[in-house]
Amino acid sequence: PAGLADLPLCPVYARLGRPFHQPVTATPLPEPRMVHFNAALAGELGFGPEIVTQCLEILAGNRPWPGYASSASVYAGHQFGAWVPQLGDGRALLIAEVRTPAKERVELQLKGAGPTPYSRGLDGRAVLRSSIREYLASEAMHALGVPTTRCLSLVASPQAVVRETVESAAVVCRAAASFVRFGQFEYFAGRGQMEPMAKLADHVIAEHFPHLQGRPDRYAAWLGEVVERTARLIAQWQLLGFCHGVMNTDNFSVLGLTLDYGPFGFMDRFRWYHVCNHSDYEGRYAYHAQPEIGRWNCERLLQAVSPLLSDDPEQAAEIGPDLLRRYTSVYHRSVMRGWADKLGLREFRETDARLIEEFLGLLQRGRGDFTRSFRLLARIRAGSDAPARGVREEFADIKAFDAWAADYRARLRGEQNTDDEARARRMNRVNPKYVLRNHLAQIAIDNAMLGDYSEIARLAELLRRPYDEQPGMEAYAAEPPDYMRNIEVSCSS
Ligand code: AMP
Ligand code: MG
Ligand code: MG
Repeated sequence: PAGLADLPLCPVYARLGRPFHQPVTATPLPEPRMVHFNAALAGELGFGPEIVTQCLEILAGNRPWPGYASSASVYAGHQFGAWVPQLGDGRALLIAEVRTPAKERVELQLKGAGPTPYSRGLDGRAVLRSSIREYLASEAMHALGVPTTRCLSLVASPQAVVRETVESAAVVCRAAASFVRFGQFEYFAGRGQMEPMAKLADHVIAEHFPHLQGRPDRYAAWLGEVVERTARLIAQWQLLGFCHGVMNTDNFSVLGLTLDYGPFGFMDRFRWYHVCNHSDYEGRYAYHAQPEIGRWNCERLLQAVSPLLSDDPEQAAEIGPDLLRRYTSVYHRSVMRGWADKLGLREFRETDARLIEEFLGLLQRGRGDFTRSFRLLARIRAGSDAPARGVREEFADIKAFDAWAADYRARLRGEQNTDDEARARRMNRVNPKYVLRNHLAQIAIDNAMLGDYSEIARLAELLRRPYDEQPGMEAYAAEPPDYMRNIEVSCSS
């Protein structure tokens, strides 16, 4: 266990300097209070337990990290489809790059630490409400097995922040191997600055795709991997009923991490057209649209980086579409494999697509709860034609469910190994019992606004083991009560 000062810093991204980022110091946060500290992540990073008391002021933005100059990065992006030539870390600061005991370099960012040159007149702050959501969601996603940025700490302050109403400020400390976004490449491409673009690509390859270094086709090979990671990431979102909410290219990580938790949501009732972001009037980022948007975003990245692919523009223009086709095939393969896993099927057969579609159709028509319904399927016995008690009652159209279940059991009997217990165990490792439902987050938020942080701790603990049955926590696996079904979450946070 080490204290702050013992942690080895390794300022690799910092050394890139301008024009990628510029030095910005955090704005002091009055009366900071540690709402939650992620001791497990701290351990992974190599911090001892005494670190909390040492670093509250650092994690609030009141003191710099010893030996590191904080900075804000510049990027551009497509926001809701529209090109914005300059954005940037408007309220995030890179405060350290540390070397973990496992010899990995981890970047730490404060989100909500005050204005930067990229704040565009906004306050650079984040409210407690959205900070709680980001904190809990990123750790929940990590525990679900989804690549994501993580959160080390959540610090609150009584400082007033004005959104639709007056709220209070909070700062989260996020951790990731890198926060480099698609939009960073788009920024330099948009300005015709190929040199910095190549330098950034070289940095990303050297640090995060070292096996590609030195290859003459390294840029294409790297982009191919980014495209594949993105396709697999979005397949995972679909399989968990996760809606990101703001899939702008500036929120897309070149490491294929889930990045920027704003108006995200795990679906309760399944709806293909579910839109979790109240400010997404056209439903651009609806659940059903996520895979296609992921592809569109990859296309934007490929277009931006295409000048690096070949000196011959014609040839360069061909490589991009080729790489993009990999998105479609990798997405379909992973999502189909994933649905089959959720049904407990060992092999995937072409006809299984119908079984999956019909099940989702049942959920859609019967307004079935996505997470609960999949979890319950593990109770179906392949060998018994008796109606699956405790499962069928979940479905509005019991007859239609029974018909589907008969097909499903027949399909299960066609598997090599039909052991019900083993299948149930497999299914329970991919169909979570607990996800961060909006109403659960909202209860924790409402309590926190009254100064009671205990529900945040309870949820953080619960969501560390989303696939395990946890005694006494059954209520956390339930659908929201009707009056909490339509909590509105928007970009204003
Ligand atoms: P987002 O929709 O969260 O991806 O944010 C889009 C852009 O707006 C990013 O560049 C953010 O840094 C910036 N931004 C959002 N909220 C604020 C804020 N309160 N202060 C400064 N910049 C912000
Ligand atoms: Mg963002
Ligand atoms: Mg955001």
